[in-house]
Amino acid sequence: MTLNRRKFLTSATISATLLALDHKSAGAMIPSSSPSMITPIVISTWDFGVAANQAAWKVLQAGGRSLDAVEQGVWVPEADPTNQTVGYGGLPDRDGRVTLDACIMDEHGNCGSVAGLEFIKHPISVARQVMEKTPHVMLVGDGALQFALENGFKKENLLTKESEKAWKEWLKTAKYEPTMNIENKLYDKVAPTKLPGNQYNHDTIGMLAIDKAGNISGACTTSGMAYKLHGRVGDSPIIGAGLYIDNEIGGATSTGVGEEVIRNVGSFLVVELMRQGLSPEDACKEAVMRIIRKKPAIAKEIQVGFLAINKKGEYGAYAIQKGFTFAVCHAKQNDLTIPGKSYY
Ligand code: ASP
Repeated sequence: MTLNRRKFLTSATISATLLALDHKSAGAMIPSSSPSMITPIVISTWDFGVAANQAAWKVLQAGGRSLDAVEQGVWVPEADPTNQTVGYGGLPDRDGRVTLDACIMDEHGNCGSVAGLEFIKHPISVARQVMEKTPHVMLVGDGALQFALENGFKKENLLTKESEKAWKEWLKTAKYEPTMNIENKLYDKVAPTKLPGNQYNHDTIGMLAIDKAGNISGACTTSGMAYKLHGRVGDSPIIGAGLYIDNEIGGATSTGVGEEVIRNVGSFLVVELMRQGLSPEDACKEAVMRIIRKKPAIAKEIQVGFLAINKKGEYGAYAIQKGFTFAVCHAKQNDLTIPGKSYY
């Protein structure tokens, strides 16, 4: 990932108030880690989280369950063909196949997940059905597709003309190097700087919500790393890596180079750090620092961002690189994006 991929203020040291002022909902001046205890609340990764949060908010405002909120929230980017990093319209793998990863987790510790799922527009809903209708947690590839079709999901082509074009462009020069920072190389050298719909070649939506009853759920869904090796699975569908919820403590989710998140069991780590008393932002920061401390040279080249919320509705985020944003929605503010703090 490049450093200039998102519109943001460059200094992480600028006060939270000023950071909030850079955004279209500046009036609210919500700091980047909130001391407030506003629930219900929904937060999600990246700017495209704003629209997703609004869909989730409808459920929360009506007194619905956080599980329904996060599922319906992430349907928005999953169904959006201009979003080339999630669901329908996602950039394909090296072989031109759109393979989706998603997971969901509720307040009881129930969870479901799909990985490498093709032809289904809403992998998050398949993940939910894995959770609710099977004794298992995770289904992958053909098995996940078979399960989806058996449960009434429609088989659809998910490769849009735009994503096919981008893939064919990549194929012209693609030299597959399965290194840690391949996405960085792809991004810098091959992939378009900016894709249609103001989207980028790689980003996951991770969403965390607390409902009126105070229960926490989360969802995470992605098309994964663009032009990945067929069969590659990132952190996003892996419980504990891309998403983790503990209803006593809080929840966490991640975006960025999934391999590093998996190696550090990132989201579980963030929740455990909150259990030890860290604020959501400090917990995210410590999880990022683990990655940086273990592999400083590689960490310079890649992006990983964590987003977390605790039981009180306090939230925070931290990323390796600048440019990570997240969206917040609660009764007083429904369309805010906040630049997450970062190490670099
Ligand atoms: N974490 C995702 C993956 O590694 C990609 C992303 O968030 O950009 O598949």
